Amino acid sequence: MTASADDLAALIHTIPDFPKPGIMFRDITTLLLDPAGLARAVEAIVDAVEGPVDLVAGIEARGFLFASPVALALGAGVLLVRKDGKLPGATIAEDYALEYGTDRIAIHADAFAPGARVLLIDDLIATGGTARAAARLLRKAGAQVTQAAFVIDLPELGGADALRAEGLHVTTLVAFDGH
Ligand code: AMP
Repeated sequence: MTASADDLAALIHTIPDFPKPGIMFRDITTLLLDPAGLARAVEAIVDAVEGPVDLVAGIEARGFLFASPVALALGAGVLLVRKDGKLPGATIAEDYALEYGTDRIAIHADAFAPGARVLLIDDLIATGGTARAAARLLRKAGAQVTQAAFVIDLPELGGADALRAEGLHVTTLVAFDGH
């Protein structure tokens, strides 16, 4: 959490029961509409980065929005981690479990040389299933994934701690109770 976590939290609206009953949807569209808030969020992520980064990997779709400005500030490139079937070139993919069923994310197979230092970014970490699958996928392709950043953490769901237990340096800017 940063000093301005309360300010950022106030810019994130909660929509109950979206996209289905029981989900408290943490909506960053209101943060994106606020130039000062968006700048603070990007700066806070950039400030927390440890060591050199070659690529910032953004997870579809809201992760893309933070990956690009963070990459520009770091002098790094942007790597898209997309839902399977969206990337035009040859891909490698990774499956991960959802509450019901599985999902699959993919990257371009030739996106980077082995050893590339990758910072993983998404708007929110909940159970960590998505981010952990992205880290597995990037490592399978030869990346060094040592750090990850999220605007929002839902700590009760344990995703950020699970990533930390796997040895990643994890930055989160705002935490919300519940799921
Ligand atoms: P998880 O894999 O459980 O960590 O879920 C993280 C992914 O699902 C991120 O890409 C989020 O954008 C999205 N997500 C999960 N829960 C929420 C929530 N309560 N509000 C908004 N997005 C969510």
